[in-house]
Amino acid sequence: MKDSVVELRGLFAGKLFTQQQDMAPFLTDWRSMWHGYALAVALPDRVDDVARIIRWCHDHDVPVVPQGGNTGLSGAATPDKTGRSIVLSLVRLNRIRGIDKLNNTMVVEAGCLLQNIQDAAREADRLFPLSLAAEGSCTIGGNLATNAGGTAVLRYGNTRDLCLGLEVVTADGRIWSGLRGLRKDNTGYALRDLFIGSEGTLGIITAAVLKLYPLPAARVVAFSALNNLEEAVSFLDSATRRLGSSLTGFELMSAETLDLVIKHFPEARNPLGTRAPWYVLSEVSDLASEENAVHALEEILSEAVENGTVADAVIAQSLAQSESLWALREGASEAQGMEGKAVKHDISVPISRIPDFIAAASRLLNNQFPGDRLIVFGHLGDGNLHFNISPPVGEDGAGLIARQDAINRTVHDLVAAYDGSISAEHGLGVLRHAEARRYKSPVEWELMRTIKNALDPKGLMNPGKIFA
Ligand SMILES: Cc1cc2nc3c(=O)[nH]c(=O)nc-3n(C[C@H](O)[C@H](O)[C@H](O)COP(=O)(O)OP(=O)(O)OC[C@H]3O[C@@H](n4cnc5c(N)ncnc54)[C@H](O)[C@@H]3O)c2cc1C
Repeated sequence: MKDSVVELRGLFAGKLFTQQQDMAPFLTDWRSMWHGYALAVALPDRVDDVARIIRWCHDHDVPVVPQGGNTGLSGAATPDKTGRSIVLSLVRLNRIRGIDKLNNTMVVEAGCLLQNIQDAAREADRLFPLSLAAEGSCTIGGNLATNAGGTAVLRYGNTRDLCLGLEVVTADGRIWSGLRGLRKDNTGYALRDLFIGSEGTLGIITAAVLKLYPLPAARVVAFSALNNLEEAVSFLDSATRRLGSSLTGFELMSAETLDLVIKHFPEARNPLGTRAPWYVLSEVSDLASEENAVHALEEILSEAVENGTVADAVIAQSLAQSESLWALREGASEAQGMEGKAVKHDISVPISRIPDFIAAASRLLNNQFPGDRLIVFGHLGDGNLHFNISPPVGEDGAGLIARQDAINRTVHDLVAAYDGSISAEHGLGVLRHAEARRYKSPVEWELMRTIKNALDPKGLMNPGKIFA
């Protein structure tokens, strides 16, 4: 196989790492939960080179692990331990090919950092709304391959909803150019949608046509305290009806979550001064002015405080204040990491059932695993919760890890009973691939297998991911 890699180096003019020290950063994930080995790491900067590498892998039966910014949370970008795969990093394929302002689209290569895409759109006086805490490191190829969600799904949808066309290198190394900037195109199967969310198991995304939106003149954030979840859902309902598409964020945090953020980030503080069981961050965007956004928030909040839905609230008075309120929510995951070991869940249930779900799940976990701390936060406006567990104060986490399978089973069985999903935005990767078999019907699983076998008959595209 060593000779073959020499042959690949000859064929492919780009970077190819074969030394352990060069490959190391590509062989483990962002949280260092998974580690693997590889024959080589290839970093092409042209689509033709991607195709050449994939053709070579196809001819030599070498598995391929596509990788973007390596910020995924399901272990889907890490090679296995056999050392037989090539890691194909797309980070050097990172040109913005063009912006069509009148069509409100931009064409970008897969390795573009999400933040660079947001900046380029803003320079063209447009908004690319996908936004997540990893935006300075993740790539649009990874966002598409995981159908990433983030903080603006409520208004603009998932990454799938932000993509009109794709360019893909197929599993046998052909280039499919589906870079159509069309909002209407009913000419057969939507191949684009097969590759979005496929976690690198069907082909390599090399470029995409993305949708752009008008750039809001202002985004204003409020932080509210609520006494229970029923009120949070009712506040969401009235805010959605009153504000329509101006409501661009609706995020939930439990008191325990905010406590952890305040404990681990010295600059963080509770902006309300009083402690409540639940907090909601709501964001309003306005195309015309900041006064409009503030006025809209003031109206719905004063009504909600008057009728008792919201116990207390504060509206940010400046961009800096808005950012510091967002930082409280965006720091939740990192703060829990700083606290020590945690068992994390990325689940979704219908929004109307969230209060019942959280009450039932809390009851079950408190009974079965007394002392474990529930750290609940998430995108309430999308029905997506990070329903996480930290060990009892003073415990080092080894016990929690020993009982994590039992915890997962309890949470995910309940999610299934509530018609929910065990992976709302992070994908299956290797983290959830075995459990997915339990919750998807045999018919659904068979249809997925049929697609995989049709597009990747040799099973070389990111093997072991999605399908255990
Ligand atoms: C701090 C933090 C916050 C996060 N917040 C969110 C959040 O709010 N919402 C959310 O959805 N996710 C979130 N994530 C998860 C992660 O950022 C997203 O999954 C992101 O979309 C991954 O992009 P990436 O470029 O890092 O992909 P990688 O991690 O490199 O890869 C992810 C998957 O995509 C495949 N892949 C990558 N590039 C390609 C390509 N060009 N063609 C085909 N397959 C490819 C890989 O094989 C793998 O299966 C967060 C992660 C961190 C660390």
